[in-house]
Amino acid sequence: MKLESQALLLEGAAVQGLGVSDQLGRFALLLKLLQEGNARFNLTALKSERDIVLKHFVDSLTCLRGGFLEGELTVLDLGTGAGFPSLPLALVRPLLSLVPLDSTRKKIEYVRATAETLELNNVSPLVGRAETLGHDPAHREGYDRVVVRAVAALPVLAELALPLLRPGGLLVAQKGRVTEEELSAGRRAAKLLGGAVEAVTPFELPILGDPRTLVCIRKTGPTPKKYPRQDGLPAKHPLS
Ligand code: SAM
Repeated sequence: MKLESQALLLEGAAVQGLGVSDQLGRFALLLKLLQEGNARFNLTALKSERDIVLKHFVDSLTCLRGGFLEGELTVLDLGTGAGFPSLPLALVRPLLSLVPLDSTRKKIEYVRATAETLELNNVSPLVGRAETLGHDPAHREGYDRVVVRAVAALPVLAELALPLLRPGGLLVAQKGRVTEEELSAGRRAAKLLGGAVEAVTPFELPILGDPRTLVCIRKTGPTPKKYPRQDGLPAKHPLS
């Protein structure tokens, strides 16, 4: 990793009160593996070192804002893609037990190989759809947290994530700008699913200043058994 990129990573983390100097070597390896993976499987649209550092690494670490991901927690990363946010989170929060989930096998194979090379023994990648997992007794109500970045609108996320949370658990959704309309739809969906929006925190991505919002939905009661609906329906016909 170039010195300039190292400095950006240190600064982007420091803005959020995080020290990552001990992890620089492993972030550099993650960068190299992602660039190699990109050349083979076209994993992510971001190709430049600066973009990967700021828009994947620093951006993923913003999920730690608010302290919702501290301590020994089981965390499902719904729609992880090339491992974001879970791989950066696993590097800086070894107490988290992370399950990066994606429906695309080649992405999860890349995440699994990368976690092994990085010697991240707190990462257990999984191929599958959240709709299916939500009805599997081994996973339903199985997680303390669900994290999600750049997957879908709030009502869709609520339907996919709340069945997977244990009562009292929390969905931590990292979004760009969130409209009042999306938020209202998210609140209504959460209520149907046994949850409630607990925190909506707008902020700026460190260094770049892009708008971000962390939306937290608490599971306050049981989710009715009929949710999530079958594969694809939550996104095709979002709850409203
Ligand atoms: N979270 C990553 C990031 O921020 O870079 C990837 C975001 S990518 C735009 C969305 C990913 O979610 C895709 O890799 C897709 O395969 C996955 N995905 C979408 N719906 C899903 C579902 N219902 N179950 C599992 N994975 C899903």
